[in-house]
Amino acid sequence: MPCEVVARFLILYGSQRGQAQSIAEEICEQAAENGLTADISCLSNVEKYNVQNETRPVVFVVSTTGDGDPPDTAQKFVKKIKNKSLPRDHLSHLHYALLALGDTNYANFCNCGKTIDSRLQQLGAKHFYATGHADDGTGLEVVVDPWIEGLWEALKKILASMSTVDQQAATSSDCTQDSFPKHDSTQERNMSDLAVDLHLLKLSEVEKEKAARSDSSDAETQSTTLAASLKHSVPPLSQSVLNVPALPPTYLEVLLEQVSTEGETVPADKEGYCEVPVSKAVQLTRGDVVKTAILLELDISDQDMAYQPGDSFDVLCPNRENEVEELLVRLGLQMQKNNAVQLLLLKNTSKKAAKVPLHIPQNTSLQFILTWCLEIRSVPKKAFVRSLANCTQNSSEKRRLLELCSKEGSADYNCFVRNANVCVLDLLRAFPSCLPPLSLLFEQLPKLQPRAYSAASSSLQHPGKVNFMFNVVEFPACPEHPARTGLCTGWLADHVSTILLPLETKLASECLGTSAQPKVYVRPHPSSIFHLPADPSLPIVMVGPGTGVAPFIGFLQQREKEREENKETTFGETWLFFGCRHKDKDFLFRDELENFVHNGTLSHLIVCFSRDEPDAVNRPRYVQHNLLLHAKNVARILLKDKGCLYVCGDGKNMAKDVNDTLLEIIGNELQLDKLECMKTVAGLREEKRYLQDIWS
Ligand code: NAP
Repeated sequence: MPCEVVARFLILYGSQRGQAQSIAEEICEQAAENGLTADISCLSNVEKYNVQNETRPVVFVVSTTGDGDPPDTAQKFVKKIKNKSLPRDHLSHLHYALLALGDTNYANFCNCGKTIDSRLQQLGAKHFYATGHADDGTGLEVVVDPWIEGLWEALKKILASMSTVDQQAATSSDCTQDSFPKHDSTQERNMSDLAVDLHLLKLSEVEKEKAARSDSSDAETQSTTLAASLKHSVPPLSQSVLNVPALPPTYLEVLLEQVSTEGETVPADKEGYCEVPVSKAVQLTRGDVVKTAILLELDISDQDMAYQPGDSFDVLCPNRENEVEELLVRLGLQMQKNNAVQLLLLKNTSKKAAKVPLHIPQNTSLQFILTWCLEIRSVPKKAFVRSLANCTQNSSEKRRLLELCSKEGSADYNCFVRNANVCVLDLLRAFPSCLPPLSLLFEQLPKLQPRAYSAASSSLQHPGKVNFMFNVVEFPACPEHPARTGLCTGWLADHVSTILLPLETKLASECLGTSAQPKVYVRPHPSSIFHLPADPSLPIVMVGPGTGVAPFIGFLQQREKEREENKETTFGETWLFFGCRHKDKDFLFRDELENFVHNGTLSHLIVCFSRDEPDAVNRPRYVQHNLLLHAKNVARILLKDKGCLYVCGDGKNMAKDVNDTLLEIIGNELQLDKLECMKTVAGLREEKRYLQDIWS
């Protein structure tokens, strides 16, 4: 039987934490509305695609991880196309578009996307649409949404210009192979939903709604016209016709069965976590501070957990009990919280390559899943908001949710959802008539991710132990949500509160009895490059304000021990630039750092206090100001002595300012213009002599 000829294209994604995948899936879902058919595959499924023979246009969506590395799922593909023996015309038949995801708070922005892009070009492949570089630092959607919007026109053009014969050949061969689920346009959209939405979006309806509101004696409703908020909009948005994203197709069926789920444990073993005791917890700050810092010592002596200073540890923390409880109540599922969950794929789902999420274990209690498996604090994406709108009874609430996910409501989404760090529970509080099914939460909430903390110790000095430190992150109350602490840091602070020691306690003091020790799930998170230089005679400059000092405590402990054990070895000079707010309150590890200076481990400790003596003129306030004061030495170490510069801490401001200062130092020293300075700094990065471990 002849196959219907449809305009097909292929989407290939490389995702680390699911963002690239969900954007790829969104493109796939939107294809039908644009009269096209998409096949989709993860780049790791090498048996499902072959770019070498690909006749369809290909859309790549790839993220970047670590220090500009490809996500695990894209590594094989990148390696394959990087093969130097491939001829220059190897991919000359390939027409592609590429959407690269990255974060400008980190070095090597969108590096994986850029690498794939330039290599595809070198192999003769052609763009049919300009590459997009989306920045998670400012909001992926700022680039992603318009990029997807422009993609359809470009796809239609390239498909039209590609030989009809080729296209048909590709299509008919596709129709006979089973590698991709086939598209059924009739299933692509639930038409009744669409009708309801269009009806809602009509201006006349909005006017009616407003008239109804003005008749109402409800004071809250009356006041809503004054200013926009999460719940309410103002003109022009409140009067706009809206362009809303397609309703994501549902694909999961959730069964809740009354069977015993006793004895369930955290799915830790599978992912390499170990449950280890916290042998000590010490508050590192004193009195009334902007951020409370806490140091934890973990006893890893029973585990096979080797680490080097510069590595991090992943901590798996649960969602807060009260939030899980409130969510259960809000979903009307409190009585079923101990029921076992069974997940099935909806038989008639139109979602491409739908899969039961692997991070939600089968036959585990609902409460357990909401506690340990799903990131219930994550900011709902626009597609999720779109689905929530569909489960909302009250028409003005529904309209507001549609506004928040619409193109026209982008600024409101950024302001009241994204920047306000709103989570699904906040939306359910704000929109009481929204009653989503549990399956929607399972479909849309991402996997609960571990949080990484730098090791602040050396195992040479503390065998069987690892230390790490953190600030207790606080989100003050705002109109969008109540006051709360960061998920992991708040949980850790509560978890160790019974054993927390004041700063005055010597860090090396005796440990607690094991019975009193709270436990945490951790696994090592090694760094590929952020380590002391292999040659100990090379000088190093470390820049780590605030808790950014953590890895350098590990470096210095390691050095201290190595110096003790290798009296004949030559060790290079060591500089530490540290900054905090107040000398007497948050000078983290002050005694230990001064001791490193005293015993010669640390050659130079340069400290600044940003909020002491605010009126003093020309005082160095931040680490970069001290770097400038020591510019000659910094330049000598980097440009003459082949030393290394390490920067750790806040990526949003500090690391950028330090980078600018480095450019200035190099420019002054070598009398170079900005471009030449940038090349020199890029060279230092390439030689792994300018290393950053930054967090946003
Ligand atoms: P912080 O907020 O970065 O503040 C430390 C000092 O840096 C303060 O004196 C602050 O001054 C100053 N500062 C503010 N803006 C600056 C700028 N543009 N340039 C230079 N200094 C500036 O310290 P923190 O809260 O401890 O945060 C450190 C960062 O490191 C966080 O992002 C954290 O996630 C990350 N980190 C954590 C770990 C860990 O293992 N826990 C490890 C590595 C990095 P003012 O506030 O007075 O302006």
